[in-house]
Amino acid sequence: MKTRIEIVQGDITKQNVDAIANAANTTLLGGGGVDGAIHRAAGPELLDECRTLHGCRTGEAKLTKGYRLPAKYVLHTPGPVWHGGRNGEAELLKSCYVNCLRLASEHGCKTVAFPSISTGVYHFPLDKASAIAIGAIAEYLEAHPEIELVRMVCFDARTKEYYDEALTDWEKNA
Ligand code: ADP
Repeated sequence: MKTRIEIVQGDITKQNVDAIANAANTTLLGGGGVDGAIHRAAGPELLDECRTLHGCRTGEAKLTKGYRLPAKYVLHTPGPVWHGGRNGEAELLKSCYVNCLRLASEHGCKTVAFPSISTGVYHFPLDKASAIAIGAIAEYLEAHPEIELVRMVCFDARTKEYYDEALTDWEKNA
C-alpha cells in the first residue's frame, strides 16, 4: 500500500505545513531540544498562549497557533519518558501521534509534520519508537483521507534511517 507518509532529514521549525507537532513536556512551558527550537522560532507569543493551557498530560495533545512559524498551528504533545518499556510507554507514544492527528483533522489541516517524539532526552529506543510512530500514522491515514501528507522530520541521519526502515517494513506488511 502506498502511504502518504514522507520521511525527511531537517528542522521541524522550517516546515511549510498546516501543523507541526511539538515534543513538549507536561508543563507546556518550553524546554530544550525540539521544544526549545519551536519556541525560539515561533516567538514569545507562543509561550503566552501555552501559559493559558495549564499543561497537558503525557500522550494527550493541545493546539496553539504557530505565530512566526511557517506552520499555522502547533500540536503540543508530551511524549512518555522511557522507563524500560513496562510502564505503558508504547501505548502513550502511540496516543501522542493519534491525538495530534485528531486535532489536526478537527482544525482542517491537510499537512502535518512530526519530530521523533520521545527519542531525545526521554530516551525511547529509536527502533521501537519509529515502528510505533509509523504504525500509528499509517493506520490513522488509512481511516482519514482528509489528511493528505504526514512528514516525519528527523533531525539527524541516524534517526532518519530508523524511520525509513520502519516505513519500508510497514509497506511490506500492509
Ligand atoms: P523528547 O523529550 O520527546 O525526547 P527531544 O527534543 O529531546 O524530545 O528530542 C526529540 C527529537 O527531536 C530528537 O530526535 C531530536 O534530535 C529532535 N530535534 C531536536 N531539534 C529539532 C528540530 N529543530 N527539528 C526536528 N527535530 C529536532
